[in-house]
Amino acid sequence: MEKSQIGLCLEENVPLAPLTTLKIGGAARFFVRAETENQVTEAFQFAEENEFELFVLGGGSNILIADEGFDGLVLQIALKGISVRENLVTAQAGEDWDEFVAFCVGKNLAGIECLSGIPGYVGGTPVQNVGAYGQEVSETIASVRVFDRKTKDLLELSNADCKFSYRTSIFNTTAQDRFIVLAVTFDLPAGGEPKIVYKDLREFFGDRQPNLAETREAVRRIRGEKAMLVRQGGLDANSAGSFFKNPVVSNEKFAEIVEIAKNSGIKNVPGFGVDDKSLKISAAWLIEQSGFHKGYRKGNAGLSTKHTLALTNRGNASASEILDLMVEIQLKVKENFRVELKPEPVFVGFKN
Ligand SMILES: Cc1cc2nc3c(=O)[nH]c(=O)nc-3n(C[C@H](O)[C@H](O)[C@H](O)COP(=O)(O)OP(=O)(O)OC[C@H]3O[C@@H](n4cnc5c(N)ncnc54)[C@H](O)[C@@H]3O)c2cc1C
Repeated sequence: MEKSQIGLCLEENVPLAPLTTLKIGGAARFFVRAETENQVTEAFQFAEENEFELFVLGGGSNILIADEGFDGLVLQIALKGISVRENLVTAQAGEDWDEFVAFCVGKNLAGIECLSGIPGYVGGTPVQNVGAYGQEVSETIASVRVFDRKTKDLLELSNADCKFSYRTSIFNTTAQDRFIVLAVTFDLPAGGEPKIVYKDLREFFGDRQPNLAETREAVRRIRGEKAMLVRQGGLDANSAGSFFKNPVVSNEKFAEIVEIAKNSGIKNVPGFGVDDKSLKISAAWLIEQSGFHKGYRKGNAGLSTKHTLALTNRGNASASEILDLMVEIQLKVKENFRVELKPEPVFVGFKN
């Protein structure tokens, strides 16, 4: 391990699998855990000067690392701290997301309670506009503090700058790999009502209007029943959550899918209106209708026993076994419904 002037610990050949929820993948050639903004910029400089590829790691809950590992510098963002100024709450990027939600709910601040139980760090949440149970971080993000790898500036991006949409933002589309998220500021109304719009939550509470803490507990309980919490042990323990995004299709495409389903004797195709031109279809439904059941197994990879959308490492699975299962599912869904399923996790270290 080498130590630089400002205390940057540069490690070599660090196994990455333990730093991910899938527990898969080889080692990083170089690894730095940055606890300050200076360490982030110094690590970036080191990578640039030595022409190493740089991968920014958060909590590792939305990535699949290649079996060969990553032949560059992995920079884990570990900046800590939370500050509150009236409704504005700023969390440093390395704060654990679920602990941050608990902190806000504990202060009676509304707006992220339905996002309880999602693993990973705060800095990862704007990247794919994390969402669940009828809520997305884009609804409450006021600004995102970033380091711009292109201009080398520290910037404050507004919500509009981030161009949030379903599972996307500039961070994983137009400006992919350009910004390192350092902190996120949320605008959370004090004493606001919890958002109870999602079917599972409405059924859970019936006519009763719960408070924020009850909503958080309900979300965690429902997620637990679907193996969507990170827990130690069991067949479903190692996953990256939902492996596929719900496809968003045009009204015409949806009608085509309904027709295909009808010809196979399926009466109802679940579609959720996005706007007047498009609908979102449940990827889990497409997978199940294509013949894959909960707990389906292929080698050391499998589908969660509680949820067909999560691909799991059943123990010692390689990244290529996960990819084989992914491709099998994609081909079958394409063949049956002419819809392409897009993976949600980020692939790291794969050559193509
Ligand atoms: C059991 C389980 C359940 C899940 N449920 C949900 C869910 O309900 N909804 C949902 O949206 N997601 C869900 N996820 C996916 C995942 O938890 C989120 O996407 C999470 O926000 C990823 O954060 P992370 O810190 O783990 O990011 P990582 O996995 O470390 O990284 C993911 C991507 O974000 C980038 N990134 C991470 N941190 C930064 C940063 N500071 N600056 C710049 N880029 C960064 C990485 O480079 C990578 O491209 C689930 C995952 C699991 C394992």
